[in-house]
Amino acid sequence: MTTTADQLFAELQTIVGPEHARRDGDLSAFEQDWRQLAKGKALAVVLPADTAQVAAVVQACAAARRSGLAVSIVPQGGNTGLVLGGTPDDSGLQVVLSLRRMQTIRAIDRQNLSMTVDAGCILQNLQEAAAAEGLLFPLSLAAEGSCVIGGNLATNAGGTQVVRYGNTRDLCLGLEVVTADGAIWCGLSGLRKNNTGYDLKHLMIGSEGTLGIITGATMKLYPQPVATCCAWLAVDSLDHAVELLALSQKHLASGLTGFEAMERDALALVEKHMPHLRMPVALAAGQAFILLEYSDDESQERARTRLEGLLEAAFEAELLTDGAVAQSMEQAQRMWDIREHITLAQAAEGLHLKHDVSVPSSQIPAFVRKAKAELAKVLPDARVINFGHLGDGNLHFNVQAPEGADARDFVDTQQRVAERAIYDCVNAFGGSFSAEHGVGRLKRHDLAQYKDPVALSMMRSIKQALDPLNLLNPHVLLPEVAATSPEVAHD
Ligand SMILES: Cc1cc2nc3c(=O)[nH]c(=O)nc-3n(C[C@H](O)[C@H](O)[C@H](O)COP(=O)(O)OP(=O)(O)OC[C@H]3O[C@@H](n4cnc5c(N)ncnc54)[C@H](O)[C@@H]3O)c2cc1C
Repeated sequence: MTTTADQLFAELQTIVGPEHARRDGDLSAFEQDWRQLAKGKALAVVLPADTAQVAAVVQACAAARRSGLAVSIVPQGGNTGLVLGGTPDDSGLQVVLSLRRMQTIRAIDRQNLSMTVDAGCILQNLQEAAAAEGLLFPLSLAAEGSCVIGGNLATNAGGTQVVRYGNTRDLCLGLEVVTADGAIWCGLSGLRKNNTGYDLKHLMIGSEGTLGIITGATMKLYPQPVATCCAWLAVDSLDHAVELLALSQKHLASGLTGFEAMERDALALVEKHMPHLRMPVALAAGQAFILLEYSDDESQERARTRLEGLLEAAFEAELLTDGAVAQSMEQAQRMWDIREHITLAQAAEGLHLKHDVSVPSSQIPAFVRKAKAELAKVLPDARVINFGHLGDGNLHFNVQAPEGADARDFVDTQQRVAERAIYDCVNAFGGSFSAEHGVGRLKRHDLAQYKDPVALSMMRSIKQALDPLNLLNPHVLLPEVAATSPEVAHD
């Protein structure tokens, strides 16, 4: 007999406690995405207390789905994702499984330089816990006060330190995962070497909640750098920015821990909406600006000497038009604040189209010229807001509606037009249409268009093998997943 939604809801309440399984009242924090692009309606929002409860919730939903109720599960962390992967659709048939209550730091192993944590730990709390032990957890992004490590892993988040420490994938040693049939895989491990077959954690990382629910993780830690220096540098072209990157890598080697680029228009939005954030260098000084961070293992003095050596060489090579070096941690933080407020300034300016793309960093200037030209042909008055992690070849090539235009209407009607112009260029330059935000519900059609067909077919096989009921995030990532039973064919 088919389980009804009411019966399933009652069962979920029994598992997690009535106050932690909700379907009434204001649930917008769970049903609406960060950008307010879409608001769904969940069958229930469920907040388990621990891994066992997560497993029980998955088992209950799987049983209900087997019985014929077309329920599915949307795992959710901090709900800061930008591609609609963590919010429900409006069918009223999706259970939002939020990891927010699971916030325990289970262990920190100082000698092994690792920490084992619940998936619901807020990223900033993990950074602070590591710092309290005199260690560094280097994952860092503007949403770090809200996003959680499970979400970071599920999206393989990047952020501002990738140039030195890699993506979230590179920081993970082991995972604990609840599988689609509700089993618990304990793959938590502090091992840096383990060649015993398929490395399953790498399947889960970046799978956007479609293969399993991450409930715990063992993450790498690093020694804290002894000193960190930041500089804000103006250049008159992205060509010079890329040359500066190469020079910085030569002079600073692995001490280069951040290399962010921002075109002038992106910073103009920050100046407009957050005037209290004063620019270190006037915007008139360059076409683009670089926030460069150098970390040194020895001393503050050596850090400054090496940074100054780089800047001398850069001025000599006529790569810089102006620049400022932070004289204190506060000044360095203010530089990062400006960089991290671009996304918020864009939101304040109005709804816009996000394109989180990557191309080899050497190709960035040519790519940006070509993409702007192609975009101008189809959307002549649209405003490109271009910034990103240049050190990783990753740009947020965003498009804001023309001045005075209805932004909602622009986003609704021009999304495909802009995407086609930009992603065709990305493809031509050998890049990726999703560098760090993932695919979610928003970019599934792009995966169908741009992903290698053989890779797509292997991805489908993996999904079918690990989630044959298509229970976990069925509308995310893969363009279409063949249903295995007639009662769920509408997915
Ligand atoms: C201001 C701002 C700046 C940002 N900057 C960056 C940046 O620099 N780099 C970057 O990579 N991203 C960035 N993002 C995007 C976002 O913060 C990241 O994608 C982040 O990793 C999402 O984490 P979350 O906990 O909010 O996940 P959510 O938004 O809750 O979920 C994201 C996806 O992961 C899945 N998921 C969540 N938790 C789990 C789990 N435990 N198990 C399985 N699947 C799960 C969800 O189903 C969904 O598909 C930014 C976002 C904002 C708002």
